Amino acid sequence: MENRTLLKKSLGEMNIAYTETQIDKLIAFQELVYNKNMKINLVGPSSKEDIMRRHILDSVGLLRHKDKSKFDNCKIIDIGTGGGFPGIPLSIFLANTKIVLLEKTIKKTGFLKKAVESLSLENIEIVNGRAEEIARENKMRGSFDLVIARAVAKISILLEYSFPFCKINGKIIFYKSRKVYEEMKLSGDAINTLGGEIEDLIKVDVSGLEEFRAFLIINKKKHTPLKYPRNFAEIKRNPL
Ligand code: SAM
Repeated sequence: MENRTLLKKSLGEMNIAYTETQIDKLIAFQELVYNKNMKINLVGPSSKEDIMRRHILDSVGLLRHKDKSKFDNCKIIDIGTGGGFPGIPLSIFLANTKIVLLEKTIKKTGFLKKAVESLSLENIEIVNGRAEEIARENKMRGSFDLVIARAVAKISILLEYSFPFCKINGKIIFYKSRKVYEEMKLSGDAINTLGGEIEDLIKVDVSGLEEFRAFLIINKKKHTPLKYPRNFAEIKRNPL
């Protein structure tokens, strides 16, 4: 199916409203990712259609969430954004929301800077660094309404990266594969230890995407103890 047709059909099926400018930007982003992916690994071997279905449409699938209006006019951080997923596709729909793209690999943040400039995305800030280090900075700690991450680490590790960034009464949402149930079991009491509680675990149907997709949604209720996040070696050796 032609790109533009696929995109419009899938967004329509997901009840996500769009403008022609948003469609143009998503297609321009697909091109940028496709071209750069030939030189550095952003999304693994992928055709243009894979990039549209498996990455762009999957990213915007979050806009199907019942509370999506709460994602407007707020501050989001996308941890381990890689080539900009899900942060860049979301930013195209959430023009009044500031989105911080956090990524440890400098080659990828180099790509993100160029992409953001070329797509004129004024609501994005790019930060190069490791989540567990950046979360210790005063201006970052406890300052986001929503923390999101897709395909970055197992839940137990991701929780420790994410909680410190989140405001009290903010949300943490992970895009997860079928392994979510197994990873949840392994994460034990980590959510409680870090100051939160599970709101929901929902399987979502993303139009155009064949893979299983679930969102793990967590509410932050209390301050996260200051000893978290620990350094990477400690997190890895002794995950929560
Ligand atoms: N979220 C993107 C996506 O869905 O396509 C990228 C997924 S990629 C498999 C994982 C990314 O997380 C990589 O780009 C990696 O460099 C980044 N990453 C892993 N650990 C990180 C950390 N502790 N802090 C910041 N970025 C991290």
